[in-house]
Amino acid sequence: MTSTDRPLRQAIWSTAACDLCGCEALEVLGERHITVRGRSADFAMDFTDAACPQCGFVQALNRPDEAFLMDYYRDAHIGHRGGELHFNAEKRVATVASRVPAGGRIIEIGANDGAFCAELARAGFDAFGFDPVEADEAASVEKGFLEAGVASVAPKSADAVIAYYVLEHVINAGEWLRSALALLKDGGVLVLEVPDYSTHPQDSLNVEHLLHFTPESLRELLEQHGLSVEQAGDIGPTVAYGQAIVARLTDRALAETPRPASAGFLAGGAKRLAAARASYAEAKADRDRRQQAAEDAARLASEADPSGDASVFIWGANEYAERAAPLVAQAFAKTFVADKSPSKIGTPFPGLTAPIVHPDEAAQADQRIFLLCSPNWNAQIAAEISAAGWDALAVIDAVSGERLA
Ligand SMILES: [Zn+2]
Repeated sequence: MTSTDRPLRQAIWSTAACDLCGCEALEVLGERHITVRGRSADFAMDFTDAACPQCGFVQALNRPDEAFLMDYYRDAHIGHRGGELHFNAEKRVATVASRVPAGGRIIEIGANDGAFCAELARAGFDAFGFDPVEADEAASVEKGFLEAGVASVAPKSADAVIAYYVLEHVINAGEWLRSALALLKDGGVLVLEVPDYSTHPQDSLNVEHLLHFTPESLRELLEQHGLSVEQAGDIGPTVAYGQAIVARLTDRALAETPRPASAGFLAGGAKRLAAARASYAEAKADRDRRQQAAEDAARLASEADPSGDASVFIWGANEYAERAAPLVAQAFAKTFVADKSPSKIGTPFPGLTAPIVHPDEAAQADQRIFLLCSPNWNAQIAAEISAAGWDALAVIDAVSGERLA
């Protein structure tokens, strides 16, 4: 099947007002046009990034329709599966456990396959979760995963509602938060983590994220909805680019009908808008640098084997691989993305027809080129390649765009 046979999914986009203050005349920061290859279709994403001139919140000016997003996550997203945890689970459990009575009910929204709920259940909590994507995939459902979804949960029954790296994906922040708070008891605790736009703008501006929170805007959203923040800056996130917040529901009326943006929040709007513009420029420069490195790496691979016969192993199924893979695949028919994670092996990868393979597959190849994609571990991976005795035409660092061997 060639790429021209694949259906191209387009979203129905609708204009959104500022999620924090309701302002309708947002300032455009830039555009990002991305096509993501899924298992059965390509998904066109045409983002216009914007900032609110009134409060400085950064968000997608237009939001895709819900059906498009759900199909995209089902078809193209490499979800977390198979019981592996890519975060500090102990820290997550401790944050929740210190605020929930023994045996208390904890509901996770966006629970993937339920692996973290299983951790909480082991710690003695009545923990379960749901996930709009995974709910359709019965095979991936583990203990602690609620197949029937949110409708089967009694309202106001949870001692804690938790959601990690979910809020930045939703079409409307307020609507999502109100539905989460409907599950929470009065006095119950909400624990959220989202990317931090102020420290990691490039990670926040990831392909499918629609909302880009700073610590101030996240706090304001929660306070508008009747939550009292108990911990924010003084609690570390469980992934490097994130921010965590813990808040208690103290005003049910506001949880159902939030107050407008506070005067104090709006007073800092001009300063946040200036910071939002600067962060966006920084993220764009960073993205351009990464793209250049991918192009340099692909060129070095072609120079190492102009015939294009070699097997190219792009090591590390991450965003660096996503940049390099389609470029390399133009010159090398045998292009593979390799990753040791059991949850990724066998799943599709954007820009390639071959699914993700284990690095040991390199043993089968006649001639090899490696492109290494991990900012932190490339030196170690290069040592592993050498230790495995895999002769290579070239070993290339796809993060820096330089040849290592
Ligand atoms: Zn605003």
